[in-house]
Amino acid sequence: MDKDLFRHHGYEFVDWLADYFENVGTLPVMSRVKPGEIRAQIPSAPPEQPEPMDRIFEDFKTVILPGITHWQHPGWHAYFPANNSPESVLAELLTAGLGVQGMIWQTSPAAAELEDAVLEWLRQLLGLPAGLTGVIQDTASTATLCALLSARERATDFEANEKGLKRPLVVYASQEAHSSVEKGVKIAGFGRENLRLIPSDAEFAMRPERLEEAILRDKSRGLEPCFVAATLGTTSSGAVDSLAAIGPIARRHGLWLHVDAAYAGTAAVLPEKRWILDGAESIDSFVFNPHKWMLTNFDCSAYFVREPSWLVRTFEIHPEYLKTGADPYVKNYRDWGIQLGRRFRALKLWFVLRSYGAEGLRAFVREHIRLAQLFKSWVEADPRFELMAPAHFGLVCFRLNDNRDEAALASLNKALMDRLNATGKIYLTHTALHGKFTLRMVIGQRTTAERHVRAAWDLIREISADLLK
Ligand SMILES: *Cc1c(COP(=O)(O)O)cnc(C)c1O
Repeated sequence: MDKDLFRHHGYEFVDWLADYFENVGTLPVMSRVKPGEIRAQIPSAPPEQPEPMDRIFEDFKTVILPGITHWQHPGWHAYFPANNSPESVLAELLTAGLGVQGMIWQTSPAAAELEDAVLEWLRQLLGLPAGLTGVIQDTASTATLCALLSARERATDFEANEKGLKRPLVVYASQEAHSSVEKGVKIAGFGRENLRLIPSDAEFAMRPERLEEAILRDKSRGLEPCFVAATLGTTSSGAVDSLAAIGPIARRHGLWLHVDAAYAGTAAVLPEKRWILDGAESIDSFVFNPHKWMLTNFDCSAYFVREPSWLVRTFEIHPEYLKTGADPYVKNYRDWGIQLGRRFRALKLWFVLRSYGAEGLRAFVREHIRLAQLFKSWVEADPRFELMAPAHFGLVCFRLNDNRDEAALASLNKALMDRLNATGKIYLTHTALHGKFTLRMVIGQRTTAERHVRAAWDLIREISADLLK
């Protein structure tokens, strides 16, 4: 492709995206294709001859687009959001064009130094303790794995402690913790049998006294308690584990305290939500995803640690071909995580943080929380519905409840969910809370406004009325 053709298609694609952002709300939010339907339209062998971009782009529209579930749709209420913004997309375009592979400082000093700077900005924006240092990871799952590996390194390090450890290390998290903790435990080799899922309370937060009981029990059996993951904003219901209660227990027993705030961490930009960080002085590591609720297109996960030296001890490598004269003076992020090659993700974050400013981000998050509170008030005011959990953020857990037995209620609510999603107007998903089938209404899409949430509620009521007939 020569430069004129690049220009031509570049303008064309930006035009297309500008229209997409404008009109995505008219598309069915959840893709309607059947399994295999897209694959069947893709030739089984690669093309022998070069194809023109016009034809490729045409196929993008006719073959690929129907198989896209539209995460940027204003009716997106499923899972958690992965919202983006035009600012972030434009930065991503520059990132792709620069094609930087930022494994070490020297392979692009600006990528390394901007990453350092914007993560310090994020630390300040969220009000995380001074002294935490940040690094971008691809996802929260990877950050949590890094935390587990660092904790294992610290627990088994001969020089730093004299344990010379051979005993099994034990990991703790609440029953409501994200599955990435279990996945990390498996990958890092702790052994699934050394993961303790601590019961949660009526509001789905970890019960700290049960954590300490489990630690004491394991110690008395000769095991080595090593790591506890606290969650701020659990995936099922947005529950908040108390760092003020868990921190002292972790310290007393020498555990690494990791905080998984993948979704809800963004809410800490608001003074009225800072309470979620009460007790954060004692954390060892913290992760949240700007790619969920902070307008930065996937992927971009912000991982903060108290002592970067544990990351470096875990991941550092010194092959001759990667040595540079700058090494003593700089951060080489290849030593701060699993991958060697790294994308220049800091650029999109920089664009977003500057374009919105702290005030813009606060207004954005505050509005979603306001809409969630509004939705919650409608649920509470309608006797056919039941609120299933506290709503601290942009997530409201609810269900229809006409007092049939649990199995029948599960079928009723599943039918409601399936019919809602089949309309193509909204998309929401479910979970189980203390065994009860629960619908999750998440408000966190950039373009979701009050009228969308009202329309969603009207739809929910209309289909519910029909189901209850
Ligand atoms: C979404 C989520 C994760 C996983 O995030 P990835 O970035 O996709 O790995 C982990 N923990 C919690 C609490 C989440 O909500």
